[in-house]
Parts: sequence; C-alpha cells; structure tokens
Amino acid sequence: MPGFPRLRDTYDVVILGGGHAGLAAALKAGLLGHTALLIDRGPKYSRSYYAPKLDNIPGFPEGVSGHKLLDLQIAALRQVEPSVTYVTPATATGVVRLPSGEYEVAFDWLARRHGVRGRAAVLALGVVDRMPVIGGKIDPIFPWANFGIVDFCILCDGHTLPDRTVAVLGHDAFAARTALDLLHFRPKSVELLTLGRALLEGSSHEERNELAGRLAEKGIGHVDTEVVGFDEIRAKRFGVKFADGSRRTYDKGFSALGWYDQHGAIPRSLGCRIDDEGFVVTDEDCRALADEDGRPIPGLYCVGDLRNGWNQIPEAWATAERAIIHAYAYYL
Ligand SMILES: Cc1cc2nc3c(=O)[nH]c(=O)nc-3n(C[C@H](O)[C@H](O)[C@H](O)COP(=O)(O)OP(=O)(O)OC[C@H]3O[C@@H](n4cnc5c(N)ncnc54)[C@H](O)[C@@H]3O)c2cc1C
Repeated sequence: MPGFPRLRDTYDVVILGGGHAGLAAALKAGLLGHTALLIDRGPKYSRSYYAPKLDNIPGFPEGVSGHKLLDLQIAALRQVEPSVTYVTPATATGVVRLPSGEYEVAFDWLARRHGVRGRAAVLALGVVDRMPVIGGKIDPIFPWANFGIVDFCILCDGHTLPDRTVAVLGHDAFAARTALDLLHFRPKSVELLTLGRALLEGSSHEERNELAGRLAEKGIGHVDTEVVGFDEIRAKRFGVKFADGSRRTYDKGFSALGWYDQHGAIPRSLGCRIDDEGFVVTDEDCRALADEDGRPIPGLYCVGDLRNGWNQIPEAWATAERAIIHAYAYYL
C-alpha cells in the first residue's frame, strides 16, 4: 500500500501486539465490520518468527515456518484495510481507561508519540523467552534455534525427541521438571546443563530433595561447568564447549530458562489480575479480570501467550476469535 496509513482519533477496537493472536483479532474485527487499529513492534518480535517448522497448523501437512505463517496472516489482514489499520514498527507505551469507558492508547510510530482511543482494547503482547547467555551474549544460540536443533517448547517440539540424546539448558526447578517431562517423548537420554549454576539453586530444601531424587531415579545427570560456546552446526548436532575445555555432543538441545519478559506492565497498570506464573487472568471469553474484585474489566480483552501458559498458535487464534466475537456481540 503506497504511503503511510492515516490514523483516526477513535476505533472500535485497538489491538496491542500483532503476532499470531493480534493479527487474528484484527482480521476478525475487520470481517465483522468494525474499525480497528493494530499496533505492532514488528513480526521479528513474535515468538514464532524464528521457529523453522510448525507441525500443528491445519492446512500445512508438511509443516510451515513461523515467519511464513505471519506473512500469510499479514496478507489476509490487507484484505480488510482500510477499516483495519496496521501500524508497524510501532510500540505501545501505555493504556488508560477513561471515565467514558474508552481506552486511550499511547504508542510510538514514525519517531513520534501518538494517541488514539478504542471502545474496546485487546492486549496481544505475547511473552519473550529467556535465552542462554554465553560470554555475555544471547546470539550464540540463534543458529541452533533457527535450525530447530535447540527447542524451547515441549508442546511444540516434544514429538521430535524420540531416540534422541537431549541436553536441557537450565539449573532450577523449572529446568528439572522440564527434563523429567521430556521423558514422556522417549528420548535416548536427557542431561541437564546448568550453565555454571548449582543444580536446583534457589529451591527450598524439600523441593531440592524431591526433584534431585526424581532426576536420579530417572537417570538424568547434570553438568554444572560453565558453557563457553556451541559447535557442530554443520552436522546438525548440538555440540557444547565447556569452560574446562571439555566438549559434549547431543542430537538436540532444549532451553528451559523460562521467560525474559511476560509483558505485565500494561496489564498491571490497567488493574488486571495476574496469576502465580505471571500470566493475565481472563474469563472464557478472554475478558481481562480485575485484580480488585475478579470481575471482567469492561471492554478489555487479553489473548494469546500473554493470557495463559498454553502458548500455542491455534490457541492464540482461538482466543483472538473469542475475544472479538464477544466484543461484537456484547460490547460494541
Ligand atoms: C522456538 C519456538 C517454536 C514454536 N513452535 C510452535 C509450534 O510448532 N506450534 C505452535 O502452535 N506454537 C509454537 N510456538 C509458540 C507460538 O510461537 C506462540 O504461541 C505464538 O507466537 C503466540 O502468539 P501471540 O500473538 O500471543 O504472541 P507473539 O506471536 O509472540 O506476538 C506478540 C507480538 O506483540 C508485539 N509486541 C510486544 N510488545 C509490544 C509493544 N509494547 N507494542 C507493540 N507491539 C508489541 C511483538 O512485536 C509481537 O509481534 C513456538 C514458539 C517458539 C519460541
């Protein structure tokens, strides 16, 4: 589309975040005859952008990359312009619920701060994975992640692990539980690489005893030497170099380091309830619930990974669909 899109003062729906959930929400809003503004930092910030092969997407029996799927969703969104406006790269910086019930959204776009109003707002900001830090940098892991040699999500990639040797990156209870959970997929072996930290450091005495016992029982060992680099990308293997000069090699790696950012600042500022794991709590229609009284905050929806721990693209789509249909039927 030539030129830059023109902004309105007010939209029926303002959607913050244009990954799989936000793009689906914007498309549905357009198809239902609403005006919508979709504000996105850019597809490369979507969790799936670097995922080489998604195997659970209906219509793609051979799998599809996250990048390609985002492109297809963006192409679909172009069909509902101009009632839907897509601004990217743009960063939402704050949201205020006005006495009128509308949402005032501030965002940075084209080197300027902008403000628009929405009768409803959809939070689709996703979450950001914590990456292993090697020599002070996070990029050493990227080539292995891009080839799908190092995975980040059991639900997405557990099925690729049977008969493979697997290194799980992480030292805490979450990493230990992930290593145990991976056994469901019958890998040949699982080993924890604690990246120089003590195994189960930070866990209570009881938790450490329980998890250490289960790891030993299942034959899951650990290496607590610091990791200084990765290797063997050409052989499509996960080679690991340790600070003491030793090396190990695995068929696959699995990063179990949790979240770097769960994008809680905007939901918290709006009074949303956040669960113990850091996800926004909603009802079945994806209405954000108020921390104060557990009731839905009128006109405020939360979809995709930001909302719960399922973290799957079909779930992002389903929650987006649900939120927009609810807004259409009951609110707009
Ligand atoms: C390596 C990997 C492999 C995966 N494989 C699969 C798989 O095989 N199958 C599957 O179903 N799922 C898979 N997933 C999970 C899937 O990627 C997520 O469930 C999905 O991306 C969630 O969609 P979302 O829209 O909630 O978040 P995202 O897709 O992460 O999108 C969030 C968007 O919000 C934007 N954003 C964030 N903050 C701001 C801000 N302040 N202002 C404006 N925009 C902002 C970002 O730019 C981004 O585009 C995988 C994830 C990873 C990391």
